Amino acid sequence: STSGSYPLVCIVGGGPAGFYTAQHLLKSHPDIHVDIYERLPIPFGLVRFGVAPDHPEVKNVINTFTQTAQHKHCCFFGNVNIGRDVSVKELQEAYHAVVLSYGAEANRRLGIPGEDLLGVYSAKDFVGWYNGVPCNKDLQPDLSSDTAVILGQGNVALDVARMLLSPLDILKKTDVTQPSLEALAASHVHKVLIVGRRGPLQMACTIKLPRPRKRLTELLLKAAQGSAGSAQATRQWGFRFLRSPVEIRPSSDVTRTAGIRLAVNRLEGSGENAQAVPTGEVEDLQCGLVINSIGYRSLPIDATVPFDPHKAVIPNTVGRVEQVAGLYCSGWVKRGPTGVIATTMNDSFDTARALLQDIEAGLLKLSTKKLGSKAIVTLLEKRGVNSVSFLEWEKINAEEVKRGGRAGKPREKLLDVEEMIKIAKT
Ligand code: FAD
Repeated sequence: STSGSYPLVCIVGGGPAGFYTAQHLLKSHPDIHVDIYERLPIPFGLVRFGVAPDHPEVKNVINTFTQTAQHKHCCFFGNVNIGRDVSVKELQEAYHAVVLSYGAEANRRLGIPGEDLLGVYSAKDFVGWYNGVPCNKDLQPDLSSDTAVILGQGNVALDVARMLLSPLDILKKTDVTQPSLEALAASHVHKVLIVGRRGPLQMACTIKLPRPRKRLTELLLKAAQGSAGSAQATRQWGFRFLRSPVEIRPSSDVTRTAGIRLAVNRLEGSGENAQAVPTGEVEDLQCGLVINSIGYRSLPIDATVPFDPHKAVIPNTVGRVEQVAGLYCSGWVKRGPTGVIATTMNDSFDTARALLQDIEAGLLKLSTKKLGSKAIVTLLEKRGVNSVSFLEWEKINAEEVKRGGRAGKPREKLLDVEEMIKIAKT
């Protein structure tokens, strides 16, 4: 719809930040229109593609997001890559306000020799593989060695450890993708070491929070269940504290990883601010699988949008992008890739409140006529981009649920974007 007086807002990214920002705007302003542009034909971001398959209850937020998407003043455009198909400037021309909520799509690099050897994977790709991210479907991680080392001790590291060790009877009832279920069934990994540069009190998944404690307990229980059966009798995991990776060591033919060298640290200071300082000693571990789980990282979207390369966030004040009127941000791209969905919800509500205050203060020039999605849809048609509506996503959803039902799973995720679009458009 076009507008001469009511606010037209668009959001880039259909993850929790995008949906919670939209939800708060729609709830608080009776006339506002909100369009969500999402790169994939599928909404919900890391709720679908990050949250572990054995945590289905976390995914219930999808019900709330679906209600938002079905609001009469909300429109979802999937399969639209902002920065490639449409520029941020074009969005700014079409809308009174643009909210960037595009998350953190990269993995932090270790910056050590051997990082690109076969057998070394980023947690982002590994998680994407078992959760059905289309661009990770062909990862084929090598699970032929007995020991895996996970670098990093956050929640994601615990998820990955659980996935490597969980008994198949648990996994096969989840929405884990069929190819990864088969690969995990054939996996030889029975020992997982979770390495952190500091001590137990500084762990990123600090035990005082209820969710990490739950994840740890689950890991313990699942490893114990795994060792109950004779086939998995030797499954075990453990933490290696006060260790930093210095080199991933190659096999004798230099084709793949055969181990990792860790620097031994000691702590200077105490509590959360304690620093890891190398002692000069090293420890070598043999392993054929290394997963780098030291964190996700946001990337700049477009040369016109300010970006802080050191913090890897869009510089902002309570969600208002610095020095660009009418441009906002929320979620991981606003505050960095930490925190659970509830944290993202709160910061998205803050951004929505800032935007509403700016409307109230007359800063968004609502008297300027804007074309909103009409302008963008024209551009997409010209550029041959086949956008996917929320109704069309629901067709994909129904197909996934149908396929999953046959195997006793909540859904069997489609892995191929072309196939998703084909189903969406039938
Ligand atoms: P995202 O969820 O990443 O959403 C960003 C969206 O933007 C994506 O859909 C992406 O496709 C889209 N996008 C990116 N670039 C573009 C573009 N150029 N144009 C258009 N769209 C674009 N939290 C919990 O509470 N419980 C958990 O169990 C839990 N498990 C997690 C497990 C993992 C492995 C990870 C990584 C995170 C987990 N979290 C969990 C945290 C939670 O997922 C985040 O707090 C939340 O998803 C961040 O929301 P976001 O919208 O900022 O980012």
